Amino acid sequence: LRGAEATALLCHGTADGFCASDMGFGESSGPTTLYGMVFDAGSSHTSLFVYEWDSDKENNTGVVSQTLSCDVQGQGISSYANNPPEAGNSLRECLDKALQVVPAEKQRDVPVYLGATAGMRLLSSATEQVLAEVAKTMQEYPVAFKGARILTGEEEGAYGWITINYLLDSFTKHFGLGMVIQSQVTNIFGALDLGGASTQITFMPEGSVLSQNEASEVTLYGYSYNMYTHSYLCYGQDEMLKRLAKELIVESSPSTRVHHPCYPKGYNETVSLSSFRASPCTDGSDPRRPLGDSIVTLEGRGNASGCLAALRKLFNFSACGQSQDCTFDGVYQPPLRGQFIAFSAFYYNFKFLNLTEGQPLAVVREAIEGLCTRSWEDVCSSGWRLCARLPKYCANANYILTLLLDAYKFNETSWNNIFFQMKAGSADVGWTLGYMLNLTNMVPPKAPARLKGHRP
Ligand code: AMP
Repeated sequence: LRGAEATALLCHGTADGFCASDMGFGESSGPTTLYGMVFDAGSSHTSLFVYEWDSDKENNTGVVSQTLSCDVQGQGISSYANNPPEAGNSLRECLDKALQVVPAEKQRDVPVYLGATAGMRLLSSATEQVLAEVAKTMQEYPVAFKGARILTGEEEGAYGWITINYLLDSFTKHFGLGMVIQSQVTNIFGALDLGGASTQITFMPEGSVLSQNEASEVTLYGYSYNMYTHSYLCYGQDEMLKRLAKELIVESSPSTRVHHPCYPKGYNETVSLSSFRASPCTDGSDPRRPLGDSIVTLEGRGNASGCLAALRKLFNFSACGQSQDCTFDGVYQPPLRGQFIAFSAFYYNFKFLNLTEGQPLAVVREAIEGLCTRSWEDVCSSGWRLCARLPKYCANANYILTLLLDAYKFNETSWNNIFFQMKAGSADVGWTLGYMLNLTNMVPPKAPARLKGHRP
């Protein structure tokens, strides 16, 4: 991967400093099942994925399957900044589960990676201690620990893109008799990822990517793919909700009762202004209202159009001037191209709204408006515990519309090119599989001989 390089692994405490690359798989005589594990240490929570594949098919695409996924109890590792050893301990349950699915004699050969994303990118202190503690815990287990590090936003985008196209077999489909059929490169999918703290867009544009910051090149099976990828820190859905609340509070300063257009009518939430200091996304001082310790009550208004308007203010669209190749904040993006898989929170929110079946944009808008106008009493008829996410869906769904339509510039027609899905085959879509494939050299830069005559 160039532009999203995956080299400098942090290898806490490894005696030989060896962390990544060639695994020396397949040294035994006959084909055998191999395993790999990746922790996705996201902003809101951590998941462990165990993958398996046959040693004799390593370089083929679409042969890795997901053996296990395990959700780590509690919050993301960045929440342990004040108690780093607990970040390590939090991983034990899933590590134990993972070892149950790998035969004992193979465990020591299983490469294990931990990649942390935007939650850790936002943390200003204790990142090294937290990473060192998770590394320490993983080294206690009889596996081949390969490193714990923070991925850049561009890597996160690029590996998500590799995962999708690997699982959908896009990389080898355009091999005609020994040649790449250019027209079929359009069968490559773009990737749209919405996390808690950042969001990523990655796709292959028509021409070249005109900005080095957003250009990534990856050579797989003898073909060089030029990708556009951008990660927006502070534009994940949790950080967005916090930024929205802060903006509403600041706008109605000095009132301590603030109308929230995206929360359902009848729903109230109290926030302490000091909580905004916890993240660099909301920490900035605003002359309209200093961040003291006062408590403010957010009162739901259930106003769909007001919600959309408030969310749009979180984006600096005017920074793009007249430029069409620009999203917001002056960020370059070439024209969209091809089909996209929208996963993570794009999927979770749309799944809740029953909008993952390719509904046209008009139907989507109507469903979101309908949800926003429902009262809290109507939305939450079961106990509070089960309702925890419900007040947020109107804001999240409208945020998704703003991001996809106003920022990324999908329209009525190209909307139909977005597929909201979390799985491809039996594996989850996310950056973890692409990361493992890259670090274990399983998607080789050269076309393996058997692919050269592969017909599409
Ligand atoms: P991350 O932890 O960075 O992968 O972020 C995933 C995002 O999806 C976070 O904002 C989570 O709060 C959010 N999320 C997870 N499950 C759901 C769900 N069922 N509905 C809505 N959002 C969700």
